[in-house]
Amino acid sequence: MTIPDIVIAVDGYSSTGKSSFAKLMAKEFGFLYLDSGALYRAVTLFAQRENLIRKDNSVSVSLRNALGTLKVDFDREGRTCIDSVVVENQIRTMSVSSQVSPIAALPYVREFVDRRLHEMASGGRVVMDGRDIGTTVFPNAGLKIFMTASMEVRAQRRFLELTAKGQSACIEEVKKNLQERDFIDSHRETSPLSRAADSFLLDNSNMTMEQEILWVKGVLQGKFLILD
Ligand code: C5P
Repeated sequence: MTIPDIVIAVDGYSSTGKSSFAKLMAKEFGFLYLDSGALYRAVTLFAQRENLIRKDNSVSVSLRNALGTLKVDFDREGRTCIDSVVVENQIRTMSVSSQVSPIAALPYVREFVDRRLHEMASGGRVVMDGRDIGTTVFPNAGLKIFMTASMEVRAQRRFLELTAKGQSACIEEVKKNLQERDFIDSHRETSPLSRAADSFLLDNSNMTMEQEILWVKGVLQGKFLILD
């Protein structure tokens, strides 16, 4: 199937399988995959390491200037790096998950991440996942998908992901973290999580990844009148 040179924006709630689906689409279509959430997580890890998050979870204003020294990237395998050192596991801990949403609500953090995303996506043919890709970062994306799934399914997925990596987790704690992040992400002032009017809704509560790929191929064929 020949896909046009477009940006595919995948947005939605936490742990709805956005990144797994986006990665698989990128592989299937020969696109570059960019995980915007990983950049917010990297900023959070950086702020923690620089001691810029206080005990009450408020963030020091020094983060704004400190961001000028943050070199965040993805390596060839798509792993997140700070100063060329892979930090993929460190950014996926519950400690980062519990502090990332307030940090992602800061307008200067969003500007920083948006700028990096535009730099990295300059070649086109990109699948990007996040919360505001289709509404703010790439409002003209060729295809916008908004993902959702039931809370039970989402919590179970994130729980399995954490335990598979050997991290200790409790399902109730995971669920609480997802609910908190959904709330903060949907209610923040700067580019809150919301469904773009021209997005296609994908509820994958009861779908396999193969079914998701078949679904998106159908959407692309219909939208771009692809016949092959
Ligand atoms: O996608 P992931 O769950 O790794 O994202 C981590 C956090 O980063 C989200 O909970 C959200 O607060 C923030 N985020 C965002 N906008 C994006 C992507 C992620 O605010 N485009």
